[in-house]
Amino acid sequence: MDLRKIDQEYVLHTYARNYVNFKYGKNARLYDEEGKEYIDLTSGIGVVSVGHGNERLSRAICDQAQKIIHISNLFLIEPQTLLAKRLVELSGYDMRLFFANSGAEANEGAIKIARKYGEVDGEVKRYKIITLQHSFHGRTITALKATGQEAMHTYFGPFPDGFVYAENIDHIESLIDDHTVAVMIELIQGEGGVEPQERQRVQRLAQTLRQKDVLLIVDEVQTGIYRTGELLASNLYEIEPDIITLAKGLGGGVPIGAIMTRLKSIFAPGDHGSTFGGNYLSTRAALEVVNMLEEYKESGRLDEVMIYFEERLKNVAKEYERLFEKEVGLGFMRGLRARSADIQNEVLSKAFEEGVLVLKAGRNTVRFLPPLTITKSEIDEGFERFTRALERI
Ligand SMILES: *Cc1c(COP(=O)(O)O)cnc(C)c1O
Repeated sequence: MDLRKIDQEYVLHTYARNYVNFKYGKNARLYDEEGKEYIDLTSGIGVVSVGHGNERLSRAICDQAQKIIHISNLFLIEPQTLLAKRLVELSGYDMRLFFANSGAEANEGAIKIARKYGEVDGEVKRYKIITLQHSFHGRTITALKATGQEAMHTYFGPFPDGFVYAENIDHIESLIDDHTVAVMIELIQGEGGVEPQERQRVQRLAQTLRQKDVLLIVDEVQTGIYRTGELLASNLYEIEPDIITLAKGLGGGVPIGAIMTRLKSIFAPGDHGSTFGGNYLSTRAALEVVNMLEEYKESGRLDEVMIYFEERLKNVAKEYERLFEKEVGLGFMRGLRARSADIQNEVLSKAFEEGVLVLKAGRNTVRFLPPLTITKSEIDEGFERFTRALERI
């Protein structure tokens, strides 16, 4: 059976797909059908936060699947209730949650909250949302329009009105007018090239927005759930957003998205909804993931391996100055800024050949999003293979 041929025949060609056939994994290790081992420094684009083949997560999923997978939001869903409570308590924010199925869908919901907030009887409707250039907020029509990368908008218009792009965080204030209701940012741009915002600038922006009654939406789809070392990057930056969106790492690979907001009463029954969002299976999985990671963080191990990884990456950046300008990022959201797009591509393909998976971001960044549970020996093995790949460039 030629799976590659079948895939190309029957699946739309939306991805530049690598046709390796992975059969199983164990934490940061993956094995293909020929038994070749890979160190996975991508965790499925920041999704498999507790690693592949995680026993505790698979036990929770199996247990839940045998009982109830789905009932609908017309009834109480125990793990959804408990997950919402856990996320609020761990975040330290006085918020409520809504559960969706993906990052784009969570951002759509956040935008709906902002649009409703901007609707006050008898006054001009505030509807404009300012986002940043090079941002990424998802692939649905509205989330795509919120994404500040014009090249991605080709073909798909007309779009909903009201999205404005700021060159950078300091440029946002000058774009605020009487119709502006919200600003949506990533604290570390992921797809845009692993670009952390400066903490003081973000804090200043948060303060300005609060004064002007403009909502701050933080898209934590990639930065959330301990990716930066704290539950939320917003915790790390010490800001209090009005709305936070989550997805990628939350379910450990089971699709789930979430909106957290301090506007606790913004929605009334009927304003928003989702058939699958927050069902038993995904919220039970996410609850297990969050509990595991919280224990891991508390034990001090998460910080320890993050620091270990950072040192290894900084050494690579120094040792291979001929290939990389610098090392960028925070926590387990890291990158090496390659000296050209060609080098970026070379690094990706040579790394794959040597048995280590890394990602692209932006025009010239090699991105690392390892499972948060990666061990020091997996890191050692990963960097050994990675440097072997760099030697060949
Ligand atoms: C991946 C990502 C999204 C989109 O998430 P999907 O689950 O693919 O819809 C949105 N925002 C950010 C910051 C992301 O990294």
